[in-house]
Amino acid sequence: MKEGNNGGYANDWLIADRKTGEIASLELGLKHVNLWRTRDGYFVGSNYPIEPALAKDETDFPINDRNQSANARHIRWDQLMRENKGRIDVSLGQKFLADHFDSFSEKTQPSERTLCGHVELSERGSKPWQPPFGPAGAVQNKVADATMAEQMSLAASMGHSCGIHFKAARHLKEHPEFAWEKGTLRDLDSHPWTVFKIAK
Ligand SMILES: [Zn+2]
Repeated sequence: MKEGNNGGYANDWLIADRKTGEIASLELGLKHVNLWRTRDGYFVGSNYPIEPALAKDETDFPINDRNQSANARHIRWDQLMRENKGRIDVSLGQKFLADHFDSFSEKTQPSERTLCGHVELSERGSKPWQPPFGPAGAVQNKVADATMAEQMSLAASMGHSCGIHFKAARHLKEHPEFAWEKGTLRDLDSHPWTVFKIAK
């Protein structure tokens, strides 16, 4: 994955070997490439750079701002990993992705700071990416365990998996500043988790 890397899609790639139980995280920057691997741990991701040197040299990301969406979600992921150590399965994974606990305010309230991302409900938006109430956030969810991976299968839920629908007409009425999106902005309903499999 390092070969020919031009930094065009700097990202953190999560990799798992279902035969050995080993998992890995490859942080692929341009100047810095970091690999972590474990057989008894976890890796989480929520749009934040991991290694301080990479963050400093390659981004202007505020790594210490707990109010920032990516950092607030990172803190929440770590909390959930600690609380559920040793018993994480597909159904818990689904629960995590619909999580509305805000690690910054310590309240259950969906926003840009929650794992089930709801920028559209946030008076802060998600700067510098989205203005207040910007129609953005989690739009689909996927979970798989090792057995499902072996069978080329995954569980997926379109829209917010928490059950909250996004209705374009209502959003544009409440937030007319997005009227310019009319005609393009569509409803995004919450759909139930569905298991997808390859044809036999
Ligand atoms: Zn939600």
